[in-house]
Amino acid sequence: MLKINNLSASVDDGQKTILKGLSLEIPAGEVHAIMGPNGAGKSTLSYVLTGRDGYDVTGGTATLNGEGLLDMDPEERAAKGVFLSFQYPLEIPGVPTMTFLKTALNAQRKARGEEEMKAPEFLKKAKALAKELKIKPDMLKRPLNVGFSGGEKKRMEIFQMMMLEPNFIVMDETDSGLDVDALRIVADGVNKLRSPERGMLVITHYQRLLDYIVPDKVHVLTDGKIVASGDADFAKKLEVEGYDAYAA
Ligand code: ADP
Ligand code: MG
Ligand code: MG
Repeated sequence: MLKINNLSASVDDGQKTILKGLSLEIPAGEVHAIMGPNGAGKSTLSYVLTGRDGYDVTGGTATLNGEGLLDMDPEERAAKGVFLSFQYPLEIPGVPTMTFLKTALNAQRKARGEEEMKAPEFLKKAKALAKELKIKPDMLKRPLNVGFSGGEKKRMEIFQMMMLEPNFIVMDETDSGLDVDALRIVADGVNKLRSPERGMLVITHYQRLLDYIVPDKVHVLTDGKIVASGDADFAKKLEVEGYDAYAA
């Protein structure tokens, strides 16, 4: 599903190289985790995959179901169903959350050649999901994330993710700063979204999240490259032994 081959990327107009020949394959239906020390390039990978400004690809390829991702603009990638969950969710003032989500969902459906979801169906789906995630209906009328507490933002992000039914999900340190209850909400949401057609990349500094979201594979990223890979138990070993053995 997602194939990254020998990817290099830099910031500061090429002054600073961060990704240095990173290769990774995530088949459809699998959840892979990336762990690694601070500053290794984990967030940079998620930014490059979603097309954030200021992160320049200097070599290599990344394809989603055979289509080159790196030439698409961020909106196109989102419409193809690539969803990035941020460590610090963005606030979108002025647009009610529901309006924002309906627009995003229908852009995605259009890109997939599907019919748009009509308002009644959308509302029904949103109401049911909000109830499940314990999100108060009035929050959906407020602008996205503006004035939301940390926990509310997290729940809202899982809500967005489940409403949008993305093809490929990248979560970048979604667990940082979460208490155990919020962690469960995130993990339950992710686990519900596991499906044979969907791939997920979960980036985390700590092993804790992986007790709840058990990955198919775990990779270590240090100094801009994947340097080791293993199964879910490998994450536990990393937590105990640290990353020094994998230093570049
Ligand atoms: P991680 O998520 O693994 O902690 P990052 O991808 O955030 O690492 O950062 C990797 C390195 O690149 C760090 O040294 C960081 O300071 C640097 N870096 C990331 N983004 C920028 C930027 N926009 N400008 C300058 N340096 C950056
Ligand atoms: Mg970091
Ligand atoms: Mg990071």
